[in-house]
Amino acid sequence: MDFTPEQQTTIDALAYHYSEILKLLGEDPTREGLLKTPQRVAKSMLFLTKGYQQNPSEILSSAIFMEDYKQMVIVKDIDFYSMCEHHLLPFFGKVHVAYIPNHAITGLSKIPRIVEVFARRLQVQERMTTQIKECIQQTLNPLGVMVVIEAQHLCMQMRGVEKQNSITTTSDFTGAFEAAKTREEFISLIRH
Ligand SMILES: [Zn+2]
Repeated sequence: MDFTPEQQTTIDALAYHYSEILKLLGEDPTREGLLKTPQRVAKSMLFLTKGYQQNPSEILSSAIFMEDYKQMVIVKDIDFYSMCEHHLLPFFGKVHVAYIPNHAITGLSKIPRIVEVFARRLQVQERMTTQIKECIQQTLNPLGVMVVIEAQHLCMQMRGVEKQNSITTTSDFTGAFEAAKTREEFISLIRH
């Protein structure tokens, strides 16, 4: 990965602070195994938060097609990795998206791409769910959109506060999905 001079300045500043963090944890950042760790972590953090530099609405509207298809479009099992903003620990799992077009459809690969943009920011699962929903609703103006996220949170699992391996499910929807029957159809389609 190549970095701009501006990014390199950010990486150096982050690396300085990570080195300080290592000292505060009682480590010696000059020992061999840790020598490059601050730079590595800084670059990795920049990658894991690169969604801040990307505009999801632009990605969606870059591929809009006019079609008369009026049935549910479902993109399910989209893998994502994000980081919880409360502990800076990963949460990850699957996103399922359904929308009912109102003339405009988008390229199917664009849905996973906007999931990626929202996931590569510091997040809470609830907000990520709503942001994906709103982005699709505002950009495609469909008859309805529904987003379901199932995720495991390492801040729960590693710290042993909650049941291990528990899955957190969130969902949000608009328009046609306000009808319970439509939601059920989507849920049953993502269950297998
Ligand atoms: Zn957390």
